[in-house]
Amino acid sequence: MTTNNKYCNSLTSYSRFKTREVKIGNIPLGGNNPIRIQSMTTTFTMDTIATVEQTIRMVESGCEYVRITAPSIKDAKNLKNIKDELRKRGYNVPLIADIHFTPNAAEEAARIIEKVRVNPGNYIDQKKFQQIEYTDAEYEAEIERIRQRFSPLVKICKEYGTAMRIGTNHGSLSDRIMSRYGDTPLGMVESALEFVRVCRDLDYHEIVLSMKASNTQVMVQAYRLLVNHMIAEGMDYPLHLGVTEAGDGEDGRIKSAVGIGTLLEDGLGDTIRVSLTEDPEEEAPVAIALANRYKNRASHKEIPETKSISYDPFSYLKIPSIPVNNFGDKNSPRVVADLSKSEITNDTLSELGLTYLPALDKWNLGDQAPDYIFVGDQNVEIALPESLDAIQNYNVWLKNPDNHKIHPIFSYGEFTNADKKSAHLNFIEITIDNVFSEKFDGLVDEKRAVFIVKTDNIHGYSEQRRIFNELTIKGFQQPVIIQREYKGLSFENLRLYSATDIGGLFIDGFGDGVWIKNIDISTKEINRVLFGILQAARVRISKTEYIACPSCGRTLFDLVEVTNKIRERTGHLKGVKIGIMGCIVNGPGEMADADYGYVGSGPGKITLYRGKEVIKKSVPSETAVDGLIDLIKEDGIWIEQKEA
Ligand code: SF4
Repeated sequence: MTTNNKYCNSLTSYSRFKTREVKIGNIPLGGNNPIRIQSMTTTFTMDTIATVEQTIRMVESGCEYVRITAPSIKDAKNLKNIKDELRKRGYNVPLIADIHFTPNAAEEAARIIEKVRVNPGNYIDQKKFQQIEYTDAEYEAEIERIRQRFSPLVKICKEYGTAMRIGTNHGSLSDRIMSRYGDTPLGMVESALEFVRVCRDLDYHEIVLSMKASNTQVMVQAYRLLVNHMIAEGMDYPLHLGVTEAGDGEDGRIKSAVGIGTLLEDGLGDTIRVSLTEDPEEEAPVAIALANRYKNRASHKEIPETKSISYDPFSYLKIPSIPVNNFGDKNSPRVVADLSKSEITNDTLSELGLTYLPALDKWNLGDQAPDYIFVGDQNVEIALPESLDAIQNYNVWLKNPDNHKIHPIFSYGEFTNADKKSAHLNFIEITIDNVFSEKFDGLVDEKRAVFIVKTDNIHGYSEQRRIFNELTIKGFQQPVIIQREYKGLSFENLRLYSATDIGGLFIDGFGDGVWIKNIDISTKEINRVLFGILQAARVRISKTEYIACPSCGRTLFDLVEVTNKIRERTGHLKGVKIGIMGCIVNGPGEMADADYGYVGSGPGKITLYRGKEVIKKSVPSETAVDGLIDLIKEDGIWIEQKEA
């Protein structure tokens, strides 16, 4: 890395990016401290006992800090009662006040609890969604206004020893930032730095920074760019990592792992919050599982250093590849299902979403059906659907090499010594040692080859990225499948680890296919996870996307129940993005790039959005889901659900 694109200590040797230690009550953050875990309550802040009891449940589940919303000065004042009650019950967990729009609540909270979080997009500015042009003089005047309005809070924090998170959100950038930078990673970074500069001028440094977005590519790029700017400006503030509005269940976990995990792999991140639309005590175990992977990471097998990088870490660009069969070029990443340990029958394929309908003599293909199956040494005795091909071990393929739907897979050694190869498609497994071997460059002209990159390094994301980097630098343009093998993992951890390892590479623009090898977990589940990873990294969309807020003390309806209700009705609308937001104060901004929005605007009242435009206000909650569906129907993109 050069100084222009440096964003971590090293791309090949794991170490935590060293930040300064920030004191947050009795649990310091950053420096040499472990990665801290946190979450946020969903109770009403004025309900002291409910908030205390939920906080205790969160602490018991592993939270080291607990954030509580303070929408008004009254709520901020009540933080004192919450804190006192917690201390009385023997819980010293540091508390964080979450502030949007209300400087007076922030100033009150900063005198009571250990940390305040401000959103620079709305701490001072009321967002009007106006695209105003600012002259340099007007822009400077705005910055001066920030200084005037924000300085009192900084001074209070300094006086009371209170820490502060300056937490930018992609969806709630100020009109000023939007007018100059757009909703870009650079805009997010600048949004935080405007506030950081005020703190630094007042010699206040108990600062933590975050760059959250629901879009994992934007989120990763923004954090990297922030570190790049911090390095350039000699700053070392700790980072709070999170993906906003990640949703719930498997999708929420995978999306969080793709965003947070990619950054952790490069040693970035001092504290994590996994935002799930579930009870807040469900979040810490996921965050802990993500963080625990790095305890012994520095002992990983050495990876050759890299002098230059072939991708832009701050913006997404797919690394070009040539078309080979249906891999590479403009094809979306292909999914390989490993059936080497299962009998190849119509029933097995049906499990993966490829269902043969004998009466019609045709195949019903699910949106998440794999593109290739690996059959190992088995012969394929059934007719495969048009969209599905098989990959077979080279020695077996040699006995019947003319079946155009079955393609050989070679080890690197087999391929370099093979007399017979396929004229259409050859899969070649490669490792980092192969890529750095003398003869490897001779493969550059193999136009019918797809590489499969493997790794057994515990720092596998870095090693595979190093392979991709080397291939690109050497001019290889063959499509590449990312393959990972996991042994002895629970399904929960396999899901999180693979989302981190594989999702990060896709975010960097690498990869034309994906394949997980595992003998403990069913191929059906692995296939679903793979499609989830591709969707979370935004490189292959195969289902509806829900941008659901995790809920907090502002929430106006039961988010879990409503999200499930909306999913039940719209889960078949592939590619449609639906925002489900608990309040109208932050919801419209936070749902950023949703196509439709369902936003709580008052008790029992919902406002429906098309993109950022309000379409219907104050819809009774009993009919609001129907209203949302009518809106989708009006736009002509509704399709009826297929019969099961
Ligand atoms: S959008 Fe959701 S999490 Fe964010 S402030 Fe509103 S209710 Fe709370």
